[in-house]
Amino acid sequence: MPLYRDEGIVLRTQKLGEADRIVTLLTRGLGKVRVVGKGVRRTKSRFGARLEPAMWVDVQCFEGRTLDTVTQAESLASWGDVLARDYTTYTAAAAMLETADRLTEEREPNVQQYLLLQGALRSMAEGLHDPGLVLDAYLLRALAVAGWAPSFHDCARCGAHGPHRAFNLAAGGTVCSACRPPGSAAPAPETLSLLAALLAGDWSVADASSGRHRREGSTLASAFLQWHLERGVRSLRLVDRRDPDAPTQVDSRVTWSAVPLIAAVEKVDQAHAAAQAAQA
Ligand SMILES: [Zn+2]
Repeated sequence: MPLYRDEGIVLRTQKLGEADRIVTLLTRGLGKVRVVGKGVRRTKSRFGARLEPAMWVDVQCFEGRTLDTVTQAESLASWGDVLARDYTTYTAAAAMLETADRLTEEREPNVQQYLLLQGALRSMAEGLHDPGLVLDAYLLRALAVAGWAPSFHDCARCGAHGPHRAFNLAAGGTVCSACRPPGSAAPAPETLSLLAALLAGDWSVADASSGRHRREGSTLASAFLQWHLERGVRSLRLVDRRDPDAPTQVDSRVTWSAVPLIAAVEKVDQAHAAAQAAQA
């Protein structure tokens, strides 16, 4: 199979040599692939602008010995341009791309994660909902697809019917008074309802939520994500990430996507410390 064609979303790019780029794509059929875009950093490039982060493209690639090469790229939507115009959507989209990258493996088809990311980017570009809510809904659902569905109603440990007030990252979400580990948080009931609505896709509830509960919900969603990523992906380092396979210096685009997650790391560090103190 020397040539293949698939649709995909650009997760990130890295410089390669003078004019080329390694493009990481989450494709519908093949899962995550790393392909070379030859000459895409030249202004004359036929498809360089289509191989930027968050772009949705139809690509044709030629199979190589180590890396495949893009021979054609057609834009399927111009989300990338729309999202880059506003700082909030730009950083939220960046966090989604980074999360998708972390939750998928190369050459392992993952249609659910692909469709989830595609739907979230489209929703964010259309501007129908607050970008922070779209991001949190995406994070919670991506975790659920990865097998780490958080609980925001019933007890995550014994299944006792909720609602429950206590929330514990290590336990998996809300916990009943009998299961509640020491040091559990007690978020506002409205925040837990908001998170449950985001996970379920109940936008009428989510859109009606207040700023205070959105902020609290964001903190919990980010902390949940970091908790699982740090435990699930051993090599995760958010601030100074370098791809060991990168042949040359890393494009600054690789690191901008870490920005919105750095604050979450500090929060989750506190949560980790609290969880460890609870176990000791
Ligand atoms: Zn319980």
